[in-house]
Amino acid sequence: MVVENLAEVEKRVCAACERAGRDRSEVTLIAVSKTKPVSMIEELLPAGMRDFGENKVQELCEKYEELPKDIRWHLIGHLQRNKVKQVVGKACLIHSVDSLRLAQAISAEAVKRGCTVPVLIEVNVAGEESKFGVSLEETEGLIREIAKLPAVSVQGLMTIAPFVTDPEENRSHFAKLKKLCVDLKRKNIDNVTMNVLSMGMTGDYEVAIEEGATMIRVGTGIFGERNYS
Ligand SMILES: *Cc1c(COP(=O)(O)O)cnc(C)c1O
Repeated sequence: MVVENLAEVEKRVCAACERAGRDRSEVTLIAVSKTKPVSMIEELLPAGMRDFGENKVQELCEKYEELPKDIRWHLIGHLQRNKVKQVVGKACLIHSVDSLRLAQAISAEAVKRGCTVPVLIEVNVAGEESKFGVSLEETEGLIREIAKLPAVSVQGLMTIAPFVTDPEENRSHFAKLKKLCVDLKRKNIDNVTMNVLSMGMTGDYEVAIEEGATMIRVGTGIFGERNYS
C-alpha cells in the first residue's frame, strides 16, 4: 500500500512542478514516518526513498539505530534543549529551530563533536497561538544572531501552515514565506544560505510546490492516517 501511495504522491508532485515550471529535482519529498513502524519505512527503500521525517527525538533515534545508515533523517518537530545531545549527528537537518537558546545548545553540542549542524528556522507565518515558530518580523533578527554561532548553519525556513480544508487558503502563507526567504538570501548574511524552503504537507503540498517549496513533508498521504491511541 505505501509503495502505491508514494507513486501517487510522486505523480502529483511532478504535475505541480510542471504547472509551476519547476524541475522535479528542485523539490525533496520527505516521507513523514512518525508513529509508523520500521517495516513500513523498509517497504519504501527499494523505491529509492531515503528522506524520512520524525517529530520526536526518541523515535528518530530508535529508527536510526534499526535502519540503514544511508537514510536521511529530518527532525521536523519541536526540539527541547535537553534532547539536543541525542539528535546531533543523527538528523541531517533540523527543521524546527525557533530560538537563539536552542541554536546555542545545538552549536555547543556540534562543537564538541567537531561537526556543523544544518538547520531551518521555523516561522509561524499565520501567527497561530498554538504553534511554535517565530513571527515573520522576528525571523531576520534571530537569523543574524544564530549566524554568529560557530557550528550551526542556517539553510532556510520552515513553516507548518494552518490546518485547512481548502489548500488554496494557505497559498498566501506560502507566498509570504517564499518572499521572506528571497529577501533574506539577498542580504548575503555570512554563514546563512537560504536555499531551503520546507513547507507543504499532505493537504497542501501541491500549492506549496507552486509557491516555491524545496522540501515537502508528507505523512498521511504516504503512510495513511496516524493512530495516536
Ligand atoms: C506530522 C507532520 C507532517 C506530516 O503531516 P501529514 O498531514 O500527515 O502529511 C509534516 N510536518 C510536520 C512538522 C509534522 O509534524
